[in-house]
Amino acid sequence: MLDKIKDAFSSKQLICTVCGREIEEGERFNATITMPSEKAMLVGRLDYTIARTANNVMCERCQ
Ligand SMILES: [Zn+2]
Repeated sequence: MLDKIKDAFSSKQLICTVCGREIEEGERFNATITMPSEKAMLVGRLDYTIARTANNVMCERCQ
């Protein structure tokens, strides 16, 4: 439980780069991601890894 809270605070939220709104659960979004090298390959929660890697993220409304 404590780890989950820590994770939520230390990790970047997945935010739309157009309107700045946070991507919500169940929402479809588009993200442009540069394929990282084998060494830099990100592992972890999908939303956090996308938030860290994506060049841009577009929410449902901005598409
Ligand atoms: Zn948006």
